[in-house]
Amino acid sequence: MTVLVDEAVWPWRGRRWAHLVSDESYAELHGFAAELGIPRQVFQGDHYDVPAALRVRALEHGATPVAARELVRRLRAAGLRLTAGQRRERRAEQEGWPQWRWDPLGRAWTVVAADRQDRPNLPATDCPFCPGGLEAPEPYDVRWFPNRWPALPEQRAEVVLYTDDHAATFWSLGVDGAVKVIDLWAERTAALGARDDVGYVLVFENRGPEVGATIAHPHGQIYAYPSVPTVPHAELDQSECPFCDEGWQPPAERVVSSSGDWSAWTPSASTWPYELLIAPDAHEADLPSLSSEGRRQMATVLVDALARLDRLFDAPMPYMLWIHQRPTDGRAWPRAHLHVHVAPVLRKPGTLRYAAAAEQGAGVFFNPVPPEAAAVALREA
Ligand SMILES: [Zn+2]
Ligand SMILES: [Zn+2]
Ligand SMILES: [Zn+2]
Repeated sequence: MTVLVDEAVWPWRGRRWAHLVSDESYAELHGFAAELGIPRQVFQGDHYDVPAALRVRALEHGATPVAARELVRRLRAAGLRLTAGQRRERRAEQEGWPQWRWDPLGRAWTVVAADRQDRPNLPATDCPFCPGGLEAPEPYDVRWFPNRWPALPEQRAEVVLYTDDHAATFWSLGVDGAVKVIDLWAERTAALGARDDVGYVLVFENRGPEVGATIAHPHGQIYAYPSVPTVPHAELDQSECPFCDEGWQPPAERVVSSSGDWSAWTPSASTWPYELLIAPDAHEADLPSLSSEGRRQMATVLVDALARLDRLFDAPMPYMLWIHQRPTDGRAWPRAHLHVHVAPVLRKPGTLRYAAAAEQGAGVFFNPVPPEAAAVALREA
């Protein structure tokens, strides 16, 4: 039997939550939540916190309302305490920003981080990532440290420095330098993923002021999320691995670069002009499990593909790059296939591609550059 209450049992910041609890099994609870269309990332370990607005639908689906006091009694009897979501919120309340907020319309989490507006704009002459700078007292090859201005609370945001050479870029590291970065990505993925409050590790880079990189020194970032975020979750929630399903194999006409098992290609339904997917043919789950040979091939393709993006318009291409890999929440995730997304934001020299109203409003993207033509241009760059 699934029980439910929506009174303000733990009224953090005056918000109303409904709580789904099963006194039978997690399996029953998961099934019930799936029937209601509640995304899995709302699950907090002990029970589901759902927006109070879902209470009516839960009742229609046969949930039993109980009094708040009775629910507390049952949770205590079962040895359950505050859920992770409530602990996060309470900590945010005590410590200020950033705060997790649930958007009932888009049914997704937002992080509100007011104090990041006060981040200092560091003068270009005083790079904190150059040797002797604030974050790098000594010369180094690669280096990581906790973000001093984290967008996520609880030591969930890290910075990865690719090299101590301020004028470098990812591709100019060469294959040997890129392998060192990949090794560090893998090491931090494993370390963060081993935490029991981390369900997903996202490695990413924002390159160029056009996408908000405030410091020019070559670097990327890592965020460690409590659970699997919406975008990777949607990719993983399929009956087959999209990369191993034959229909999805990149045809030669869209391949831009390859090395051994790894290749970079323009996806047939690219949303960004010159967008790239970079992945191995073999079903590799994540960075930590990638062999040294695999890391070398990945480095070779990344270096080659990113250099092509800069040669395309004969200027540094601003891009967003992120890596999707197996979640670290302890579940098996058999569909997880390691891959890199690269979203360059220019559609022609000096001209930004905006995701405008119809695209935000409908989620249907309009791409002005056919991916087949993008692949030809990048192969010739
Ligand atoms: Zn620097
Ligand atoms: Zn696969
Ligand atoms: Zn992906």
